[in-house]
Amino acid sequence: MADQFDVVVIGGGPAGYVAAIRCAQLGLNTACVDQWINTRSKPVLGGTCLNVGCIPSKSLLESSERFTQAQHELADHGIKVSGIKLDLSVMQARKERVVQDLTQGIEQLFKANGVTWVQGRAQLQAGKQITVRQTGKKTIRNLVAGHIILAPGSSPIQLGSVPLQGDTVVDSSGALEFREVPKRLGIIGAGVIGLELGSVWQRLGAEKVTLLEAQDTFLPFADEQLAKDAQRIFTKQGLDIQLGSRVTACTVKGKKVELSYQNGDGEHQAQFDKLIVAVGRHANTHGLAADEAGLLLDEWGFIHVDEQCLTNLPGVYAVGDAVRGPMLAHKGSEEGVMAAELIAGHVAHVNYDTVPSVIYTHPEIAWVGETEQALRAGGIDYRSGVFPFAASGRARALGDTGGFVKLLADAKTDRLLGAHMIGPQCSELIAEAVIAMQLGGSAEDIALTMFAHPALSESVHEAALAIHGRAIHIAPGKGTLLN
Ligand code: NAD
Repeated sequence: MADQFDVVVIGGGPAGYVAAIRCAQLGLNTACVDQWINTRSKPVLGGTCLNVGCIPSKSLLESSERFTQAQHELADHGIKVSGIKLDLSVMQARKERVVQDLTQGIEQLFKANGVTWVQGRAQLQAGKQITVRQTGKKTIRNLVAGHIILAPGSSPIQLGSVPLQGDTVVDSSGALEFREVPKRLGIIGAGVIGLELGSVWQRLGAEKVTLLEAQDTFLPFADEQLAKDAQRIFTKQGLDIQLGSRVTACTVKGKKVELSYQNGDGEHQAQFDKLIVAVGRHANTHGLAADEAGLLLDEWGFIHVDEQCLTNLPGVYAVGDAVRGPMLAHKGSEEGVMAAELIAGHVAHVNYDTVPSVIYTHPEIAWVGETEQALRAGGIDYRSGVFPFAASGRARALGDTGGFVKLLADAKTDRLLGAHMIGPQCSELIAEAVIAMQLGGSAEDIALTMFAHPALSESVHEAALAIHGRAIHIAPGKGTLLN
């Protein structure tokens, strides 16, 4: 006999678990099926983000940043410390505690909201039926739902020429588990994961971190000025970023990785102690639906959905990494909320024009909306206002003065079209621009807003003032660019 639910969510990551909680809040009898088993062989919720993605990587980024500060920056504040040592096992144990607390937190939230957690691998069948191969059991559990939300997430793409090997050639999950700091670290892919994980291991003492990137442009999806500044800063920090580089062969000899790659300068060989493959992710849609279910996928394996995340099957929604758009936890969560609200009969939508992107390096990189190059290509008249953190009192007091805030506004209407920033706490600062854009705000709206002093957020204010040539803390004309 099948268990009946109003909604069954497949996937317990940030898209799925948020969808399940919102469904329960709306009074729907909801189950969430997830197959994740953690390194301690325990079923856990939270998916990639909580278990092997955003949360553990941010834990290590924070710890490694403190290690760098203790080594190189505290002396400048007149704080003398000596005998600084890295205890990587304590750092890793802290990371695991952070992850455990958060995944258990979701379990508690499920209990508090009355969401049924079904542990196992789900497959969508025809007629809104779902079969679950239950974790640790040989039995299949049958579920039937009024509505279904598919949130299966994504997995690292593997390269045929670079097979993963134990703890030597690893993907992004393995790169969070190193038990010693590699002396020479190679990373294939200078994208978000490559940069974040490269930063962690460089700060913890790797002598050389080399990023081999196939494309000729660094961070091609980011604003050109932002990407240029980021490349300059990371190179100065010691990251060896090799653009236009294609790996042709990889062999593991003992504990060393030997890599052959080609770029504009010809053929090269390199040896590493560890190699991370970070070349993007693919949707987890293989085997998600039985053929008879008739779920439509696109040519890249993403689930085909409309603006409201409805698939080709009535009553079946799909959200998160497995559908079009950026693979970002917050984008998936908002889609999950939208699907839940639509199922409950509410009006709901996601504003895809205001999805923030953040790269958690130091300095942090963040943006929302249109880039300058996209506005130019679209023939849109815009004004740009730039404010450097070097002119911010708070950034000076922090000793963190690299980078800038840039705002872009429509030249005719003054409506905010984009924000691009690199510098201290930009992951937080970007929210100001997101809110302004979400509310349809203009550069003048931000210019007329009062910001606390001294705060990094004043840089957003000054960038808005600069759009109209009236920034106070930079020389006239320095922050304004008319297209
Ligand atoms: P990515 O797409 O950001 O970067 C992958 C890079 O690898 C690209 O620059 C690509 O050109 C390069 N590449 C691909 N094949 C290659 C090859 N054969 N040789 C050399 N380079 C090659 O993907 P990612 O860094 O793996 O991250 C995966 C996803 O996870 C992304 O969508 C990302 O947005 C998301 N993510 C987000 C965050 C965050 O929001 N801070 C953090 C981690 C991951």
